[in-house]
Amino acid sequence: MPLRLYRGDLLLIAVLLLPLAIAAPRLGGPPGEAAALLGWVGRVGGILGLAMLLVTAALSIRLPGFDRWFGGLDRLWWLHRLLGFGAFILIMLHVLALGLARVPAGLEVAVLTLFPPLSQLALWSGWLAWLAMVIFLAPTFQFFGRLDYQRWKRLHLLSAAALLLALGHALPLAGETWPWWLLGALGMAAMVWRKLLSPSLARHPYRVESVAPLARGVVEIALRPEGRGLRYRPGQFVYLTPLDESLTAGRGEEHPYTIASAPDDPLLRLGIKDLGDASHALQTVSVGSRAMLEGPYGDFFAVDYAQRDALWLGGGIGITPFVSAARGMAAEDEGRHAQLFYLANGPDRAYYLDELTRCAEDVERLTVTAHFYREQGPLSEAFLRHHCPDYVDREIYLCGPPGMISHLRDLLAAQGVPALRIHCEVFDFL
Ligand SMILES: Cc1cc2nc3c(=O)[nH]c(=O)nc-3n(C[C@H](O)[C@H](O)[C@H](O)COP(=O)(O)OP(=O)(O)OC[C@H]3O[C@@H](n4cnc5c(N)ncnc54)[C@H](O)[C@@H]3O)c2cc1C
Repeated sequence: MPLRLYRGDLLLIAVLLLPLAIAAPRLGGPPGEAAALLGWVGRVGGILGLAMLLVTAALSIRLPGFDRWFGGLDRLWWLHRLLGFGAFILIMLHVLALGLARVPAGLEVAVLTLFPPLSQLALWSGWLAWLAMVIFLAPTFQFFGRLDYQRWKRLHLLSAAALLLALGHALPLAGETWPWWLLGALGMAAMVWRKLLSPSLARHPYRVESVAPLARGVVEIALRPEGRGLRYRPGQFVYLTPLDESLTAGRGEEHPYTIASAPDDPLLRLGIKDLGDASHALQTVSVGSRAMLEGPYGDFFAVDYAQRDALWLGGGIGITPFVSAARGMAAEDEGRHAQLFYLANGPDRAYYLDELTRCAEDVERLTVTAHFYREQGPLSEAFLRHHCPDYVDREIYLCGPPGMISHLRDLLAAQGVPALRIHCEVFDFL
């Protein structure tokens, strides 16, 4: 993730530092003596660690539009993971430093500081919070291999217990409690919204209008809104929850899919590739069945990048954001030029190529070039330069399988393209 600062980041830093700023007069500066310094580090680590944990929970809110304050939902999830991991490290530091600070008074005193009699509920509440964190963080960081996505989501519910237990630890011990009430309320509100309220309040009803096969294992589903449709921009995505009774998997389960239609299309279209149980079942979803849509999310083609011509590199099902943008260009007279490279294994897997080529014939500021891996091998610098001589000066957008993305990132970095000018959409949040 390139280090770009978004407006939401400043808010995040302010909220994170609030409890420390409030406690600062009581904490004072770092003392000179070693044991006192360790005690000070332990307390600062605990305050920052708990603030990070509560803010991590608040960031899980998933409100359409809110993610754009942070550069899109994938970056928001990245921040969520980073802060969650940071919270865990700081909480470990808190425990270790407070224990070590008591060593000069004797080993027994140090052990008793960390493991007091059971009657000291606030301290044991802290340990239980730590245990809950270990249980739900281990699969997130894939210490024991990759976990089934739905099981991982269920396990993540333990984070609510960790939050409550951590507050049960901090509130009786803290000098000033209001920052913890505030951050705790934000974290819990985010979880209540996400798990209890958003399934009924944030989802919009649609009906499947058609299911068009594009290639083996790929369909385009067109959905008609039952009420007012979602408003979206090219490059954004939705969470689709199909309700079709006849589905063999994934009924009532939400999955993210990039919108492939133009924003002015009365139907919302999704190109869906069979990549697992739920997406396999969707290949034969019943026409006329109901589906709920939540979103839109994401900020792939952010408005503030639009000062330069664009280079689009889309591979496999990662072509969908570019299909939406190309379809949208027909309705917009003005805008910068875009050169799309459609990377596919072969002509049989370039399922949107015919339509994109027709778009480029109608729209002067769009050029489409196909590249077939089976015939031409990995995309080379010479191929790029031949078809788009000024590609290094363009704003660059990548979407496709991880192997393609890392090959292209290396290629572009070797040509000196700054990381901040390369925008990636990944179809994987884990
Ligand atoms: C931002 C984004 C946009 C996407 N756009 C498209 C698209 O336009 N077309 C398309 O075919 N696919 C798209 N995907 C991928 C699609 O979401 C997964 O293929 C689908 O969720 C797989 O579910 P499954 O049960 O079929 O397979 P599984 O075997 O359950 O999952 C395969 C992998 O998909 C990911 N995944 C599964 N469920 C979810 C979930 N609920 N949320 C996030 N990731 C999940 C996990 O990494 C998992 O390892 C997109 C993914 C993301 C994150």
